[in-house]
Amino acid sequence: MSENTAPMPDFTRWPSFPFEGDMRVKKLAAPVDVEPPRSGEDATDCVACGTPDDAYIWVSERWRVRAMDRPTGLPMVLILECRSHLDLGDLPNLLAAELGVMTVRLERAIRSLDGVARVHVNRWGDGSAHLHMWFLARPYGRLQLRGTFLSLWDDILPVIPEAQWRENLALVAAWLADFGGKANAEPAHIQWESPSTFSVPTATTVDTEPDDSRRPATLGDVEAAKAPPTENPENPDTAEQPIAQQPSPTAASPEAPTTEDQGGVRPSGAKSAASDHRSDLGTEVSPAADPESQYRSERRFPEAPAPDPGNPANSGQAPVQSTLPGSL
Ligand SMILES: [Zn+2]
Repeated sequence: MSENTAPMPDFTRWPSFPFEGDMRVKKLAAPVDVEPPRSGEDATDCVACGTPDDAYIWVSERWRVRAMDRPTGLPMVLILECRSHLDLGDLPNLLAAELGVMTVRLERAIRSLDGVARVHVNRWGDGSAHLHMWFLARPYGRLQLRGTFLSLWDDILPVIPEAQWRENLALVAAWLADFGGKANAEPAHIQWESPSTFSVPTATTVDTEPDDSRRPATLGDVEAAKAPPTENPENPDTAEQPIAQQPSPTAASPEAPTTEDQGGVRPSGAKSAASDHRSDLGTEVSPAADPESQYRSERRFPEAPAPDPGNPANSGQAPVQSTLPGSL
């Protein structure tokens, strides 16, 4: 199929592309007839389901937020999970609606941190079956990191100081707890010794066979766990021309709140602090339908286009139903 003589795609010439020098396109592996199960495909075996609340920075009745096991290169990388053992397409309406609220709330919380210009929200899901949404913070002023390569830069940048990282975790947890749930400022599972144990380059990890039962410690680990056969299946959004789209370096200015924000006054720029976000979407929602149904949908998430994080038009605005619980 694709031969090594294939021309390098345009994105390799984008300023945000992290690598330079001679490169060539990998040979495309043959597709498999049957894909292997993802980690935790069976709920009894699911790492997320088996992880106690104290391993999360914030928990509520139906949602939990966790951090990496140690600081990484970006100011903040967090994962939002539902408690129920469900994948994105399996969510009942209540959880689907709450996912929207939680996504907006967590984005605001992270964007309120000092030094954060933007928060990219991603759902990949080739590694673990249990829904987990990624929130990646781009450092303010780092224009070179704009766009879809941010997840790669997370493994390239110098690791942020532990103290700053912990403080950021506590701030985000506290922000979320303002709406309900419980903040764990000191997540119990974080027992790493030193950031220096963190190896910077990860290019080779992509080729390693994933240990599916392992909880990914960093975004890079997750990428490795997914071990997709193609070069860059997670960032198919070639539509995002990183430089062209975000002319203003001003922190968080372009995404003006929309009416769907229900009056949420977003912290313009960074730190608008706790007073603003209270107008967010109310407290953690109503009681609800039991989301614990274990039904698993067939996996129909090919290597295909994850929602384009740079294009709001097709990223998560889908049909959040009008059956939003009143307390949302
Ligand atoms: Zn699970």
